[in-house]
Amino acid sequence: MKRKNKVLIMIIFIIIGMTVLKFIQSDKVPDDWRLILVNNEHSVPKNYSPQLTQLSNGIYIDSRIYPDLQKMFDDARSDSIYPVVSEGYRTRKQQKQMMKDKITGFVNEGYSEKEAEKLAEKLVAEVGKSEHELGIALDINADPLYSSDEEVYNWLAENAFKYGFILRYPPDREDITGIDYEPWHYRYVGTDTALEIYSRQITLEEYLS
Ligand SMILES: [Zn+2]
Repeated sequence: MKRKNKVLIMIIFIIIGMTVLKFIQSDKVPDDWRLILVNNEHSVPKNYSPQLTQLSNGIYIDSRIYPDLQKMFDDARSDSIYPVVSEGYRTRKQQKQMMKDKITGFVNEGYSEKEAEKLAEKLVAEVGKSEHELGIALDINADPLYSSDEEVYNWLAENAFKYGFILRYPPDREDITGIDYEPWHYRYVGTDTALEIYSRQITLEEYLS
């Protein structure tokens, strides 16, 4: 075979190989959607777009967690606790806007652009690295007419695991999760996993490692 042809064939093989590798790396969604890890090191899988359900207050969540969420809220109400979902699914675009707004806020307070960026990055996850982009992470607060946030957080801390939700950023685990304690942020993992994480008092990172 001519040298020129050999080189050509080699190039074609390299291109095919690289395309296959790229496809495997970028678009692979883990087999179990409930166990997708998203944090400062792990981004939301590319092209991830869950089926959404809109709650009565306009917030969207992954349709698959709706039945368990509904049951959890019904049971909370029968204990005279009144939770509401204050944040659910966020698109990449919304996450980007959140970061922009935070930076603008700090700039308006007198910080330099660079300082503002640094401060904002501590409070808002980078685009693609917020669990809210999955639709299975929720911020849950109180309906202020009937409950205090404190009451809701306490009830959730004791009961959410029964419905498949875990306190995603527990106190004193910032070194593992990369996020400060957030008593309002719950993440769906399914009831079996939630029970194990709750009873062993571990984080999702530790469970998956
Ligand atoms: Zn949150």
